[in-house]
Amino acid sequence: MLESALLPTPLADCTDEALARAGVELRLKRDDLAHPLVPGNKWRKLAPNLAAAVEGGHTRLLTFGGAYSTHLRAVAVAAAALGLESVGLVRGEELADRPRNWSLRAAEAAGMELVFLTRAEYREAAGRAGEGSGWRWGPGLVLPEGGSNGLAVTGAAEIVAELDDLGERDVVCCPVGTGGTLAGIAAGLPPGARALGVAVLRGGEGYLEDEVTRLHREAYGREFDGWRIDHGHHGGGYGRVPAALEEFAVGFERRHGIALERRYVAKLLAAVHDLAGAGAFPPGTRLTAVVTGLPDPVGP
Ligand SMILES: *Cc1c(COP(=O)(O)O)cnc(C)c1O
Repeated sequence: MLESALLPTPLADCTDEALARAGVELRLKRDDLAHPLVPGNKWRKLAPNLAAAVEGGHTRLLTFGGAYSTHLRAVAVAAAALGLESVGLVRGEELADRPRNWSLRAAEAAGMELVFLTRAEYREAAGRAGEGSGWRWGPGLVLPEGGSNGLAVTGAAEIVAELDDLGERDVVCCPVGTGGTLAGIAAGLPPGARALGVAVLRGGEGYLEDEVTRLHREAYGREFDGWRIDHGHHGGGYGRVPAALEEFAVGFERRHGIALERRYVAKLLAAVHDLAGAGAFPPGTRLTAVVTGLPDPVGP
């Protein structure tokens, strides 16, 4: 088991003036502090998968990711910490001969073997990730792209298990990439509390909801309600940080003294501020936003 540095992760009050005017409270669930090397929701989602890998006698992990995948780095570091080998299948064969970017360099430095695939090969392989172990890149346990599977969802459900005061006025919010974190949060809620996911990519309507439902069935054999996904705050698409979002993030950082990761966490917080300002939450609502990760190190 890859032990956390800090559980339960801290909870910090973060109600801005603008939110207070809307009658809304905001707390931050500081999951970015869960583990020094495998931060945030990546630790939540990997911990049960790694425990299962070790229990199952696996000595090698295989997984997928793009050139800047946080999941890939997280698997590399976590595998190394547990004495497991790891193989990262990377989207983009053209990257093989280029100098490594900081993210792939970090994965390699942790001992991960990188295999560069064409986009077609990558799609084909990632689509078959559910087939589990045994693979053309050698034996090992296969973890899906982004790390979201049934076990990962049960790990994310622990986030809300650490919040023992949730009730009818509560909305727990998180960013949505693959939907695994939202699925876990939604499944872990007590009756009456709700979950809100903010999609960070464009065009995910329908697809992301289906993914959350599929993950609920995979993890628990049933569906859950009381959750929804906002598709209006992706800022133009994955990785896009429009000037207004950057400005919001800088202001929030200054007011609250916390560094915000931009692709997911800043988008989430900007979205809840925007929704609250538009009257989307009844007065008296308490929002708990999950800080799912750390800012990237700066550099090429
Ligand atoms: C990977 C990641 C997410 C996406 O989580 P999903 O479970 O894939 O929806 C959210 N926030 C941060 C900081 C991440 O690194």
